[in-house]
Amino acid sequence: MSSDPHSCRRLEALLDRELDGELTSEQRDFMSAHLASCPACRERRSFHVGVRTAIDTALQDESMPSGMAARMLHRLDELQAEDEA
Ligand SMILES: [Zn+2]
Repeated sequence: MSSDPHSCRRLEALLDRELDGELTSEQRDFMSAHLASCPACRERRSFHVGVRTAIDTALQDESMPSGMAARMLHRLDELQAEDEA
């Protein structure tokens, strides 16, 4: 079985659901079959997992100074404002 762009888009749409644990068994079967045959999607998936893990770790890190997340969001707003200027 070769990969096709349609399957890649479908898998990409399922990545967030997978990380949230919301896949049906049919969707899980599709993902494992597609990942087995598509290196590009395996790479995409490991990137998604890495980003999600980093966010979850930051949110659960109680040693993070309070307000840090708010400052990061504020800084993102500033960067976006600079882009628009
Ligand atoms: Zn793919």
